[in-house]
Amino acid sequence: MVPGMTTPEAFEPVFCTIVPPHVLDKLAQARDSALASPARRTLEHDAFQRTRRRMTTVLGAPSVARPGGAEAGKPHRTVYDARHGTNLPGRKARGEGEEPGKDATVNRAYAGLGATYELFLTAYERDSIDGSGLPLNASVHYDRDYNNAFWNGEQMVFGDGDGEIFLDFTIPVDVIGHELTHGVTQYTANLTYFGQPGALNESVSDVFGSLIKQHTLGQTAADADWLIGAGLLAPRVTGKALRSMKEPGSAYDDDVLGKDPQPATMDGYVHTGHDNGGVHINSGIPNHAFYLLAARLGGHAWERAGRIWYDVLTGGELATDASFADFAKLTVSAARARYGEGEETDAVLKAWEQVGVPTA
Ligand SMILES: [Zn+2]
Repeated sequence: MVPGMTTPEAFEPVFCTIVPPHVLDKLAQARDSALASPARRTLEHDAFQRTRRRMTTVLGAPSVARPGGAEAGKPHRTVYDARHGTNLPGRKARGEGEEPGKDATVNRAYAGLGATYELFLTAYERDSIDGSGLPLNASVHYDRDYNNAFWNGEQMVFGDGDGEIFLDFTIPVDVIGHELTHGVTQYTANLTYFGQPGALNESVSDVFGSLIKQHTLGQTAADADWLIGAGLLAPRVTGKALRSMKEPGSAYDDDVLGKDPQPATMDGYVHTGHDNGGVHINSGIPNHAFYLLAARLGGHAWERAGRIWYDVLTGGELATDASFADFAKLTVSAARARYGEGEETDAVLKAWEQVGVPTA
């Protein structure tokens, strides 16, 4: 233990999976064993990884030096093929600048890493996850029927899904962006992965994950779907994605998966010990505040709305144990600092008011 730390959670490095445990728990109870057993195996795997990571106390990750020959302002990507095993990273499948190969999963992962790098560089002048050109590594085809994707503190890992409920996890570019943004958070505000700071950590990943998709497609706030994980659910599932920032709680309602439990406002705040204190559930509230801000401002959401969020994440004032209200207040100061008293600051205040988070 590090002196002064009271709970192990306070120092726990994020082992974030895009599919939260409450979804897999529900799936693991399915009568059909073809649905239940991949979910059970994924849950066991994820629980083991969480425990393993809890024992290695890391605050952020050591910055890896820029590899020889890599230029500033250019990504340095490597995609590996785990070949359905769990040894990471696996065999190298595509390096930076190499032509696409036959494996569409490898190519999607490569493109998604590039899209993430591109948004952070062009919109926020950030050179990779750590701001210093960190190489971006990803492994695909992880394990068999593995129903998840995660950032393990050092790299991205994608399962192929079981094909019954989940498809290939490299399909939604916002899932790739979500996971890599956990890396950005780890190197900056390092929000504790529990309760409200944990839900903020999750929400920041959804916000930039969605912005990466919008930036790639050149969409305005009005054009965007504001979904996380669109295209990931198999056709038999009644649902459109894992989460909706525009309408939290409406992403899916399925006999096997259950119903999307996300609240949009503080009235629906869920008190639970599961899912690290509901990090993937209550993230619906700050997600919706961001959506309301972006919708009110219009245009490209990564420009003003995204800039305000990015300023808070990287500004040095956001505490690791920040509450929703702490975060909301900082977004107001960030909007004022960058844009003065005007439409942006006013829209930030209104967005938080609509979701019931105080800013005063
Ligand atoms: Zn996450």
